[in-house]
Amino acid sequence: MHTRYEIPDTRLLMSMSTKIKSPQEIALMRTAGKHLAAVLSEVRNAVRAGVSTRELDTIAHDRILSRGCIPAFLKYKPDMHHKPFPATLCVSVNDEIVHGIPSERILKEGDIVSLDLGLSSDGFFADSAITVPVGEISKDKKIFLRDAEEALHLAIAQARAGNHIGDIGHAVESFIKPKKYGIVRDLSGHGIGRELHESPYVPNFGKKGSGEILRAGMTIAIEPILSMGRPEMFVASDGYTCKTSDGSLAAHFEHTILITDGEPEILTLI
Ligand code: MG
Ligand code: MG
Repeated sequence: MHTRYEIPDTRLLMSMSTKIKSPQEIALMRTAGKHLAAVLSEVRNAVRAGVSTRELDTIAHDRILSRGCIPAFLKYKPDMHHKPFPATLCVSVNDEIVHGIPSERILKEGDIVSLDLGLSSDGFFADSAITVPVGEISKDKKIFLRDAEEALHLAIAQARAGNHIGDIGHAVESFIKPKKYGIVRDLSGHGIGRELHESPYVPNFGKKGSGEILRAGMTIAIEPILSMGRPEMFVASDGYTCKTSDGSLAAHFEHTILITDGEPEILTLI
């Protein structure tokens, strides 16, 4: 989970330099990423019509603890929120974009559901999200999910030493814009490491060659967050769930990645 609107002083975060991880730190992040990928895969496999979103949260919680890891979102309190997030997994169904709170809501055939999960292992964080179909979904929805996942992989391909943060956002924007989907600009990716959210912001739009230069050893979470319609969003009365203003469906794909001198390494690859 990460939102720009949660941070009261964005200048403070932007002015912090992005951390370069040591080889030892990178090794720990690889381990955290592997744990997360395994747990998220188990949660994904449990998605079906008839399951409640709370059941998915319970699976995520139990599997994280059984691996000796710590849920990153449970009790996480973003600066501008009055209450901490009450669950391990963010489960966002259909027009819910991110930060959906698990509940007794039952998934139905034809829904799409975003599963966003974070954990820490030996003091290092990993963060990843997928949007998956519940049973059979329409062709339009299938194409939307495929495009959203492709946007993530195009963005990751730009995460190379010597490129800029803006190259990542540009890759998402230039792929998504012609398809008439919305890019939810209030939400962005982020640096990650000893903290769940570190500098820099990693927006899903931008100009080529703009923003901070990427260097080997940076670890960032890249996460295109898209709607099938308009990009505007609002926060529901529970204080957390972000929903599309026009009621259109939303998709969210995220990986934690390591920037190297060559190909980016996906630390949360399932
Ligand atoms: Mg996430
Ligand atoms: Mg994130």
